[in-house]
Amino acid sequence: MNRSHRFQRRALKVEEAQNRILSRITSMTTEVVSLVNSLGRRLAEPIHATNDVPAFRRAGMDGYAIWCAEFEEATPHEPLTYRIVGDIAAGIAPTMKLNKGEAVRIMTGACVPEGANAVIMFEQTQEYEQNEQAYVQIKHNVRQGQNIAQVGEEIQEGQAIIEPGRLIQPGQMALLSTFGYHRVKVYVQPKVGIFATGTELLPIEQALFPGKIRNSNSYMVQAMVEAAGAIPYQYGIIPDDKEKAKALLTEALHDMDIVITTGGVSVGDYDIMAEIFREQSEDMLFNRVSMRPGSPTSAAVIQNKLLFGLSGNPGACFVGFELFVRPAIRAMLGAKEALPTIMEAFLDTDYEKGSPHVRYERGKLWIDKGIVKVKSIGVTKSSHMLSIQDADCLLLIPSGKTGAAKGDLIQVIPLQYDVT
Ligand code: AMP
Ligand code: MG
Repeated sequence: MNRSHRFQRRALKVEEAQNRILSRITSMTTEVVSLVNSLGRRLAEPIHATNDVPAFRRAGMDGYAIWCAEFEEATPHEPLTYRIVGDIAAGIAPTMKLNKGEAVRIMTGACVPEGANAVIMFEQTQEYEQNEQAYVQIKHNVRQGQNIAQVGEEIQEGQAIIEPGRLIQPGQMALLSTFGYHRVKVYVQPKVGIFATGTELLPIEQALFPGKIRNSNSYMVQAMVEAAGAIPYQYGIIPDDKEKAKALLTEALHDMDIVITTGGVSVGDYDIMAEIFREQSEDMLFNRVSMRPGSPTSAAVIQNKLLFGLSGNPGACFVGFELFVRPAIRAMLGAKEALPTIMEAFLDTDYEKGSPHVRYERGKLWIDKGIVKVKSIGVTKSSHMLSIQDADCLLLIPSGKTGAAKGDLIQVIPLQYDVT
């Protein structure tokens, strides 16, 4: 290894590193899946309404359909009286035409018959019989159009209702099914290969022995890949042997859409990933980012695929994934906003430590009397993993000599994991 080159890395700002990644993204191809298997997938086509909603004049209440003038007064003492001429259940298209002075029993969701222009709920009516004829009395004022949803009142046929790139969630499921999209075109999920590097790493089923640790990053990353909407493939542990590593990476890059390695990107003597990235200098996007933790995080385009070198320290690996890999996966899946959402919250603890680089601390958000507050959780050294399970956000401590003080309004990236 050429030791003199090791420390000569130009640090990019986080935003610049993110933009370099986004500029090299190509969308995934598409496939058609059945709606029942589409939860969490991203639409690859714009969705239009295939009919009006409602498609017929729909009763909004169980009650009586009548014809009325624009407004008619009625009280319990001076009710309006109508002759009951039939009933209409939901799902039946009425063939009758209602005449003035007539009422028809009608159920919620049923088609209002021709001639009727108001539905009066049962609670405001009373039936009686006279000479074997049923009548209904209405004891409250009535207004034309009441409790009737007009054709196309909510959605018009042809209207654009879901943009491509949107995630299929319960609301989209409701719309897609109502318009008969029982099969939907979605983006193919990227295949993401995951490697751990380090001779100290043991497969998780093995017993510990001196100097060794179990490989935990691969499984943390697998969970993050799945949560981001991609499909993880475990490639195991790469020993700190550059030639072996290159051969394994070449194979994975051939088969996968993205490859992630963890570890080996800093300036240690066995940090083979750093050397591999340096050798790919034409396609290297960055090999140093101005942030803590995770400053040696690296990315390159090799064999037309994205290769990410995340730090080995679990905390740094976590941050690197959120800032760089997740946006890449989202962009490949057509998400309109691929980058992490940034909100603001009031820091609830002093954070005195200054740093030449912006810090991404694991944190917890809560609302105190309508004010959004955030605190750093415990010791968040990049090598510590205990608090990752409790983090619901990353809080950004700006670079500078002083850190941040309680009461400062700071930027926060909310995380997508349910940590309750
Ligand atoms: P490195 O980035 O290779 O210098 O590793 C930094 C630290 O992270 C070292 O203490 C490694 O032992 C640890 N580490 C590296 N890879 C993993 C992994 N897959 N799981 C857990 N810890 C790791
Ligand atoms: Mg290592």
